[in-house]
Amino acid sequence: MRVAIGSISHETNTFSNVLTGFNKFEENLYLRADIIMTFKGKHVIASAFINILEAEGFEIIPTVWASATPSGLVTDDAYDHLLAEMTRPIKETSGLDGVLLHLHGAMVTQSHDDPEGDILETIRTIIGNAVPIISTLDLHANVTEKMVRNANVLVGYDTYPHVDGYDRGIEAAKLMVKILQGNLKPSMAMKKPPMILSTQKQKTNYYPMNVLFNLAHKIEDDERIANVTVSGGYPFADLEFAGVTMVVTSNNNLTLAQEKANQLADLAWKLRRDFLADIVPPREAVAEAIASPEGPIVLADHADNPGGGSPCDGTIILKTLLDMKAENAVLAVIADPDAVNKLVKAGIGKTLTIKLGGKTDKLHGPPINVTGTVKLISDGTFLPNGPMSSGLESHLGKTVVFKCSGVDVIVTEKRLQPTDLELYRSLGIDPTKKKIIVVKSAVHFRAAHEPIAKKIIEVDAPGIHSARLSAFKYKKLRRPIYPLDVEMLGIAELKRSFWDKPSS
Ligand SMILES: [Zn+2]
Repeated sequence: MRVAIGSISHETNTFSNVLTGFNKFEENLYLRADIIMTFKGKHVIASAFINILEAEGFEIIPTVWASATPSGLVTDDAYDHLLAEMTRPIKETSGLDGVLLHLHGAMVTQSHDDPEGDILETIRTIIGNAVPIISTLDLHANVTEKMVRNANVLVGYDTYPHVDGYDRGIEAAKLMVKILQGNLKPSMAMKKPPMILSTQKQKTNYYPMNVLFNLAHKIEDDERIANVTVSGGYPFADLEFAGVTMVVTSNNNLTLAQEKANQLADLAWKLRRDFLADIVPPREAVAEAIASPEGPIVLADHADNPGGGSPCDGTIILKTLLDMKAENAVLAVIADPDAVNKLVKAGIGKTLTIKLGGKTDKLHGPPINVTGTVKLISDGTFLPNGPMSSGLESHLGKTVVFKCSGVDVIVTEKRLQPTDLELYRSLGIDPTKKKIIVVKSAVHFRAAHEPIAKKIIEVDAPGIHSARLSAFKYKKLRRPIYPLDVEMLGIAELKRSFWDKPSS
């Protein structure tokens, strides 16, 4: 048997002003023939595909495996190039038996609102209906009808923080084997309730998301069901179809699959009020952290999460910490290549005043003048070892620990969501000894930080990854939708909008 594997993955924040060109994939992850060599023995989705397919004695046809850090629209050039790289080996392989992909599910390009649907349809047109296509999806996929129509099974992550990529890869590859051995005839159905969910309330081990997953797993226990996917959706994309989706695949029973998808959608709707975001204003959050007898208190800057396409140079929480004279704090991270250059040039031990952060757009706080001392300079390379680690190195680019009064600010060239404690340790900082840790992250920081945190406070700073969905100006999103059309639904929600005000 011959199975092609590949991935084109990007989470696109359509509110970002930063385009994602081909170079952003090259800088982050762009593999072709070297897919197998790179991932074999690691702990990522591709490793899972390789393990299962090799164990079955199947031949693996590598196509392209590419991802870029979340940001704004993917350029047409980048998308067309990557799609051509993916389809060429598929066209050239005679007697291809299956296609196994990882697509994020929330990519948007300059010309395509639903590029994943387009990728699946393009491949389907090449290989015809007899060859199965299975794709894994991120939990934040905005699933479309076109994706469901052109794939045989879609296998979404079951966890947020996403710690089950490898497991879902195994699941998807095993389903491919089952189909190819004639033991599964997938019938897939979807249901979209009229809801978009804040990412804050998509944490899968917390209420109310855990209730949806409990039902999903119960449905999966039925042997007639091959897979249940609860996709929380990615709300920072202004698309007609953004939001939560239930996808159920049965063994040759579309009615049953649809019935189960509807049942999950009904439960999500019933729980809708409990999905409303719950966040704390910056001054209140910092005051609580300072007053707390013990640390670390973790302050999450949900809105400036680079893992969701934010610039990672927002200044509101840093300014609040400095204004309120916080002590023994660390902030991870502010991505500001210009500031890094100035600090590196000054050298270790030097004290200077620079304009820091706030340079990408006007939505995350203005640049602030800060005075501090260069404590450490590093090449920004470290090997994560926490629950989200893939076995692959992380690269922050040139990195400086800049001590500004009581705050160690980690200033980097590249954007990074802090998901691993090795980030701090590689810079000589013991995170367990810090009173306050600020992370530019919505949820993924939890996997590594929850075990050491005395408390986690989710801060309502402004930004394009804000948990407060009423702050976003959607134009394409289908209406009415919960929780935006709250008057219609008779429910009150905070109406304040940071989009209407200058950020300074
Ligand atoms: Zn995600």
